[in-house]
Amino acid sequence: MIEACGVPHPEIDLIVVNGQAVDFDYAIASDADIELYPVGTTSTDFREKRLQVPIGRAFVADGHLGRLTRNLRLLGFDVAYDPRAEDPQLLRVMERENRALLTRDRRLLMHAVVKTGYFPRSQNADQQTIEVIRRFDLHGSIAPFTRCLHCNAPLQKVSKAEIIERLEPLTKIYYEQFRRCMGCGQIYWPGSHFSKLQKRIEEIRVNSTS
Ligand SMILES: [Zn+2]
Repeated sequence: MIEACGVPHPEIDLIVVNGQAVDFDYAIASDADIELYPVGTTSTDFREKRLQVPIGRAFVADGHLGRLTRNLRLLGFDVAYDPRAEDPQLLRVMERENRALLTRDRRLLMHAVVKTGYFPRSQNADQQTIEVIRRFDLHGSIAPFTRCLHCNAPLQKVSKAEIIERLEPLTKIYYEQFRRCMGCGQIYWPGSHFSKLQKRIEEIRVNSTS
């Protein structure tokens, strides 16, 4: 009944019917006062009756959320993403790898197999990133430059000597610190746009606390 009004179940943390907290499978028998509370409600009432179970910090994002995915990976978060993935594949990855679903498709979020998910309100990727950090309480886990932006695998520190053959002449001269992706082998270093990235990360970090 709630979803018929357009609200996906992963957005609801508490349902109170005639003063009693109930589960999603509660059937309305007659006229009733129904109160719905979103995730993040500060009220301490019915604390043990909350419907959203916090799951790990892994996500799967739909094909329209490429920029959000990149931002979250930049901050160190594990986000599965395939721009060509259709709905069944997204749901499969979500279930198999116990990931929270990020999607701007409200109907997909209403799918019965979705346990945890989120509909980013903003169309702006930085704003969406702030929303996700708040929704999943990720602020304390931000670890910039630890994950590959292309393939999502973790990065590991690597000595310059190990990868020097693969560097451009100027990079060889000017940079000393390198990380390599354990998945695709991509090499990262704090290059010319590094300070710009750091500034963006700092803005996201500050805005996600307020
Ligand atoms: Zn990679």
